[in-house]
Amino acid sequence: MSARSATPPTAADLLASPPATPTPSARAALLRAVLTQAGLEYYRADAPSLSDAAYDRLYRELEALEADDPSLRTPDSPTQRVGVAVQSALGEHLHLVRMMSLDNAMNDDEVAKWEGSLVRLVGERVRTSGYSVELKIDGAAISLTYADGVLVRGATRGDGTTGEDVTANVRTIRDVPLRLAGTGHPPLMEIRGEVYLRFDDFEQLNAQRTAHGEPPFVNPRNSAAGSLRQLDTRITASRPLRFFGYQAVLPDGTTPARSQWALLEQLRGWGIPVAPLARQCHTLGEIAEWAHDIEFTQRATLGFAIDGGVIKADDVALQLEAGVRNDRTPRWAIARKFAPDIATTVLEKIMVSVGRTGALTPYAVLRPVEVGGATVTYATLHNFEQVKAKDLREGDVVQVVRAGDVIPRVLGPDPSKRDGSQHAWRFPEVCPSCATPVELDAGGILRFCPNIGCPGRQLEGIVHFASRKAMDIEGLSYERIQQLLHAGLIATAADLYDLSDDQLAALDRFAETSARNLVQAIAASKAQPLSRLLFALGIRHVGETAARLLARQFGTMPALRAATVADINAIHGIGEAIAQSVVDFFASDTGAALVDALAAHGVCMDEPNAVVAEGPFTGKTIVLTGTLPTLSRGEATALIERLGGKVTSSVSKKTDLVVAGADAGSKLEKATQLGVAVIDEAELLARAGAAA
Ligand SMILES: [Zn+2]
Repeated sequence: MSARSATPPTAADLLASPPATPTPSARAALLRAVLTQAGLEYYRADAPSLSDAAYDRLYRELEALEADDPSLRTPDSPTQRVGVAVQSALGEHLHLVRMMSLDNAMNDDEVAKWEGSLVRLVGERVRTSGYSVELKIDGAAISLTYADGVLVRGATRGDGTTGEDVTANVRTIRDVPLRLAGTGHPPLMEIRGEVYLRFDDFEQLNAQRTAHGEPPFVNPRNSAAGSLRQLDTRITASRPLRFFGYQAVLPDGTTPARSQWALLEQLRGWGIPVAPLARQCHTLGEIAEWAHDIEFTQRATLGFAIDGGVIKADDVALQLEAGVRNDRTPRWAIARKFAPDIATTVLEKIMVSVGRTGALTPYAVLRPVEVGGATVTYATLHNFEQVKAKDLREGDVVQVVRAGDVIPRVLGPDPSKRDGSQHAWRFPEVCPSCATPVELDAGGILRFCPNIGCPGRQLEGIVHFASRKAMDIEGLSYERIQQLLHAGLIATAADLYDLSDDQLAALDRFAETSARNLVQAIAASKAQPLSRLLFALGIRHVGETAARLLARQFGTMPALRAATVADINAIHGIGEAIAQSVVDFFASDTGAALVDALAAHGVCMDEPNAVVAEGPFTGKTIVLTGTLPTLSRGEATALIERLGGKVTSSVSKKTDLVVAGADAGSKLEKATQLGVAVIDEAELLARAGAAA
């Protein structure tokens, strides 16, 4: 039954095996199968086996066949997905079996209470057979009726008994199979699930709407529900709706599997998408662990909204035994609610922050709101293009989400809540910190303050200077730097080296010991190599890797400072943008003054691992093996690299030299076999010493 056990044929495979008798009906059936498979490959996988052109050609061929003989236009034909007819109103659909609603458990204790009552009802057996726990998708519930495996009806939940007939719209959802995969389908069955939108699709959809002057949607759930109920199915077809199934019911109220877990497997086998991260649990501890993992870890990267988990007694026989309360709430299942990950609040203000490289980033100041279990006041807005695309305005009622990132983001505004006082936001023309005119980067999207001396850059700049991968000054936290700037004790990173114990101890929240420790940590950072200092300076485009390359190649700060754009650009791995940025930095008053001040304070301006222009090992490939008497593996490697050599891990014909220590094994044997020269540590040091 499982569709996952064997690799299904691709659309190209299907096309390559035409029917023996090429009647129009057989050809149409082949085209339906090929196009359906191609659609799945396009939508669910990244490797379509047919080109777009081939798809279009086959699609038009099928359309022509169906136009010639309308009896060939079956309900599962891919031509029925596009949606053409405009309906005057939605019909009604009486659900085969009532669509239930679940009781809610707000926490682990309420789950335990529910589980206890279920055990009293059906006994300990429910624990032995276990529970199926699944994500609760925050979308629009639908019911799909399949007759002998063919989709014949799609309906909204409605009041649970009667829903709206949205068949034509459901057909346009590419996740919904028009014909179920596999064989042996029940004559009549309803598959229930949830129609939803992914956050990225939702944001893209809203950007398109804004670009066309249409109001954006409020949140993914509303837009999924609204899209399903469109009278013009072409509109539904244009929306990136998706579907997850979780239940199947037969007319007698039973389900076509012995357990919920087996049902999920069965649904997958039929080609119905099933939500990820479902698990089988046997104890309350396992259920709680699952719920916490989803709520606090997995949820952030799912890419779509969930509002909790659903816990179901796995054994269908026990489900029937436990029964339903008031004809609407099953006793064998419960919704474990999570704190909402989407919340509504007011976008009070759009502000712009200055990064250490001068990048200007808009961010939202929100009326404080609880999202995903935390109070949120700020949200990132990424860049001006996003603010424009989402049409965010100060004073808007907005939806905020904590998903895909630790930093919350604003999904979009609710334009219906506007009272006319909200106006389109304009990016400031000058830097909010130093009033220098804002510049656009080459890509035309990112804005930045070109003033290297911008005070707005100082805080972020000093935070970066002290950070672990830069000068690594322990105890110099963000708050401490803010405090020092505020007290007027520092203005640049170089001023850190003037700080005294007494100055710090006079500040709030500084004990004498911590003041002394911080001054010591700052002094210790003077010994950091040039590579770290270059990274710490926060030169635009100079990351850790570029800083290391520059330091190794030039060896000293004065050498780098004297270099031209062409000199720097000549280094492998350093592009022109970096080279120009380095030269600009040293040419600027602020950059030059900062470096001079650091040098005056005795900060190290050399790279111990710098490459010697011409060394005894230049162009040589060297292998280290065994334990050397005094040098560590790292020290020996650094020594060889500094003198122009390259250290590799295995011996080959290309190896020039092997340095062997105690307990040298197979590498030494190999070197002897290949006739590669072998030396010991003393010889290595002698050759290195001769060069120094
Ligand atoms: Zn500025």
